[in-house]
Amino acid sequence: MQLYNNLSNEERAALIEQAGKDRLTISFYKYAKIGNPELLRNHLFINWNELDVLGRIYVAHEGINAQLSVPADNFEAFKKHLDSITFLENVRLNIAVEHDNFAFLKLKVKVRNKIVADGLNDDTFDVTNKGVHVDAEKFNELIEDPDTVLVDMRNHYESEIGHFKNAITPDVDTFRESLDLIEEDLREHKEDKKLVMYCTGGIRCEKASAYYKHKGFKNVFQLEGGIINYVRQIEDKGLENKFIGKNFVFDQRRSERISEDVIANCHQCGEPADLHTNCANEACHLLFIQCDSCKEKMDNCCSTNCQEIIKLPYEEQKELRKGQGNSNDIFKKGRADHLPYKKDLRNIFETLKK
Ligand SMILES: [Zn+2]
Ligand SMILES: [Zn+2]
Repeated sequence: MQLYNNLSNEERAALIEQAGKDRLTISFYKYAKIGNPELLRNHLFINWNELDVLGRIYVAHEGINAQLSVPADNFEAFKKHLDSITFLENVRLNIAVEHDNFAFLKLKVKVRNKIVADGLNDDTFDVTNKGVHVDAEKFNELIEDPDTVLVDMRNHYESEIGHFKNAITPDVDTFRESLDLIEEDLREHKEDKKLVMYCTGGIRCEKASAYYKHKGFKNVFQLEGGIINYVRQIEDKGLENKFIGKNFVFDQRRSERISEDVIANCHQCGEPADLHTNCANEACHLLFIQCDSCKEKMDNCCSTNCQEIIKLPYEEQKELRKGQGNSNDIFKKGRADHLPYKKDLRNIFETLKK
């Protein structure tokens, strides 16, 4: 029985192409008590591998978080299998707007301590005491309310290319930082304001809303299913779209376009652009925004230094990397002193304190 797949990305891509099937990009999550994550992990791998499902799935004692690519022809069988697992019966599936057959190239099911690395100690607050879940229609209404404070729970490189109109977009690298910043800045408004929050697929708000209620916020709301599900509802029900730009996603597509607005700028020349690039230098891999002309001029690199390195023979590049460890830039997504046009939004909260 094959529980792990050993094919390279190139081999996987070739296989997918041969199969010639359209794939759906799907994500879902569920918080639930799971006694034996390892057992669930194996069960999912065996069954989904048979259905040619690809993606990245985290299983933990606290639940499951899955980003998937499912062959359209196998969708019904996949759904049936999900429904056969008691705690996943009728789980809400977030189905992407734009599909890409190569969104994922492998099936990886991993057992983790948590399904989101949120940095929270769950024993210190009641994680089940969540905010009110609202659909797109109610969300649109709420965010027009003058008593609402709308907060984007994602990180700076996500909200930079797209967010809801009038949302506060904390300039943070991690979810944990964002929680404290927002609490600090809204300290005076725990009772009189409505705290409305959203994220990509809804999972981060599940914990955040419970955390804020624990911290004394009286009116906490969260967008059910996040931006992905919001966009679906906008289309299905003909509602007004209040999201501008692109939704950053965690697969090869990197983002999906929601409105035609380009709200970000190339970090190198400042021209309007909203496409993320990973620096081509393997020792750097900085994630940053690059326009097409800089991409060409810089050979997909973030700096002339990186550009010089990628021109060296591969063995020499490897030699250079020795002992360096991973560059910090990998974790400082889109932050580097040599990128002159990366917007610094760290003072955005000042606008709230009037
Ligand atoms: Zn540029
Ligand atoms: Zn670089």
